[in-house]
Order: sequence, then C-alpha cells, then structure tokens
Amino acid sequence: MPDRDLPEDLVLPLATGEPWWYWSGGRPAVDFVNTQRERWRRGVETLITPADLSAWLVQAHVMDEPAAVSQAVLAQARDLREAIDALLVATIEDRAAPVAAVTLVDDWLVFAGVRPQLVPDAAGGVPRLTERAAADSPRRALGMIALDAATMLGTEQRSRVRICASETCSGRFFDRSPAGRRRWCSMRTCGNEAKARRHRQRLRKTFH
Ligand SMILES: [Zn+2]
Repeated sequence: MPDRDLPEDLVLPLATGEPWWYWSGGRPAVDFVNTQRERWRRGVETLITPADLSAWLVQAHVMDEPAAVSQAVLAQARDLREAIDALLVATIEDRAAPVAAVTLVDDWLVFAGVRPQLVPDAAGGVPRLTERAAADSPRRALGMIALDAATMLGTEQRSRVRICASETCSGRFFDRSPAGRRRWCSMRTCGNEAKARRHRQRLRKTFH
C-alpha cells in the first residue's frame, strides 16, 4: 500500500480506517495526527469507530491490548488529535500557539503519569516497586500521546517538526535525520516522485 495516496473512488465515510493507517510520522503523536488523512484536500477520517481507536492505540504501542473505548472517548481523542495538529502547524508556520489547543493537550497530561506501586514480595522478602495497572487504558494511552506531543512541541525538539514538501501530501513527520533536512514524509513515495520529476525536467532541458 502506498504511504499516502488514497483511491479517488474511496467511499466516504469509511466503515473502518484501519487499512489506511500509516506509520512514517516518526513518533506516536505525529502518527496520531496523520490518522486524519489528506488534510491538503478531502480530509479523510480514519478513526471511525471506538474499535478503530482501540486497535490504533495497540498498533502504536501505547496500549498493551485492545480495550473498550466509548464514543465519548473517541470524540475526545479526535479533539486531542486536532489540538496537537494545531500546535504542530503553528510551530511550522512560526505562529503563536492557539491557547485553547495548549490547554487541551495539557488536560491530557495528567493521564500520562506513571503510577508507582510498592508491593510486598510474594515470598515475604524484599518489597518490589512496580506500576499500578491502568484503570482506564485508552485514556492513559491518549495521555501518553499528549505527553509525546508536549515533548515534541514544548521543547527544542520543535525545530524538527515537518510537513511533507509534496503539494499533494499533507503527511506530518518528525525529522530524525542527522542534518535535519529531510523534506518528504517517505522517500519510497513522495521522495521518489520528486526525484522522478527532477529527472524528467533534466531530460526535457537536454533534448529541447
Ligand atoms: Zn508525503
């Protein structure tokens, strides 16, 4: 499956978004933003059902196993996603961050914290420091995504946030290249296309 192109004749809204998820964002917060696809054009929602969100969180490695998600949490997850994107775009365009988006992401951070627990050793020996089981895994997972977004957008890491340079792609990504000059969401798709276009232009110059 190509990283970015959705079929023209896609029947919208989708029944499930799972076949259209992609993972070239470089980190969970960016992959999450990319679940709203074709932001440059149609704006295709790929978190359609509560089960979609549960499956996505597992595939993104922020939740261990599928868990029940309510419609309310799905709606809140989409709001979180759009708040992260608003901050991401403001960062790239060097604009002031929308305060409402900052507040919304901040509201999620409380769910991200590690909840330590000290338990007695089964054999009655030394106590053991572990983590309390998450009472509400989806919310906790979304809290981890909010924390990832806050780390990316609230620190020096913000200089590495990008939108793909292709005119027909709105893929967001976090640039982990050593020089920090990556331009394409994926070399396999958008990067290759640009290379082919430059090649065609060179050929035209040579022969005309
Ligand atoms: Zn792209």
